[in-house]
Amino acid sequence: MKNFDPKYNDIPKTEIHVHLEGAIRTSTIIDIAKEHNLDLPAYDVEGLNPHVKVYDQWESLDAVLGAFNIAQRSIASPQAFERIAWEYFEDSARQNVKLLEVRFSPDWAFSGHDLNWDAALDGILRAKSRAESQLGMAIGLIAIASRSMGVESCEKTVDWAICHQDVIHGIDLADSEAQHPISEFVRPVLRAKDAGLGITIHSGEDTPASAVIETIQAVGPERIGHGIHIIEDMAAVEMVIENGITLEVNPWSNYLTNSVPTIESHPLKKLFDLGVRVTINSDDPEILETNLNNEYRIAHEVLGMSMEEIKICNRFAVEASFLSEAEKNVAMKELKI
Ligand SMILES: [Zn+2]
Repeated sequence: MKNFDPKYNDIPKTEIHVHLEGAIRTSTIIDIAKEHNLDLPAYDVEGLNPHVKVYDQWESLDAVLGAFNIAQRSIASPQAFERIAWEYFEDSARQNVKLLEVRFSPDWAFSGHDLNWDAALDGILRAKSRAESQLGMAIGLIAIASRSMGVESCEKTVDWAICHQDVIHGIDLADSEAQHPISEFVRPVLRAKDAGLGITIHSGEDTPASAVIETIQAVGPERIGHGIHIIEDMAAVEMVIENGITLEVNPWSNYLTNSVPTIESHPLKKLFDLGVRVTINSDDPEILETNLNNEYRIAHEVLGMSMEEIKICNRFAVEASFLSEAEKNVAMKELKI
């Protein structure tokens, strides 16, 4: 549930793991559908919400990914993509977010309406520069290669990201890790790494600690998306610590996708106490009906992290950010950490 308790809202924040495709306001999905004559199961917020939001624990990650289809159809034009991004930046500013990295999968997000990737990128860049000047936040962009779209799609995404390296800060691999392990994508990921792009990989979300070990050995990423299942193998925990890898943790998402059986059993604090550089993020705030304030509430009230410990997670996020040192220094001062 979205939370605007000042106790959490007032804390200056970082967000380094969020999918723009999962951050579209329901009212905007409706507006865009009307504008582009798109079919929706309902054309009012209350009627559409059950189709575009996940309120309860689902049986598997794949089930949740199915809810993204409506979001994909909403990315109907570069202008629609700009609007979606701008509104997400507004929603973040409302929660006092100071440093933000937003990710999207161009081959997936832009294929619903066959958008030109560069034109869509221009849309998000317009939203980003407006947000940076008007909302006072530093914003980075990460291009995702969707594993289920295959290695050729990954190669194409890496080529595009390298070509736009002045504005794309990193590369990510997402979805279906169990079916498509890191071994399929080593070549393009290492190509992105050699070009100087930041590397973060979804791993150990619905897969065991061994998947994270394999990922680290194969491509040596700076960051891992989720990674929570390392808690089941101390060798994996030690490997993450020794390599200075930062975990982008998303507690409520992990509960909803059944990656943890109960929210109380989430290993965020245990990992922090073991010395892992964990960060707190929202993943898909609209689809999962959460926000950063809610994730902080869970960290503090359910998992027992102190407010000081939560601030340390923000420092870890800035340190691991793919943004420039100058932007990170500004954010560090605003975050008072
Ligand atoms: Zn994610």
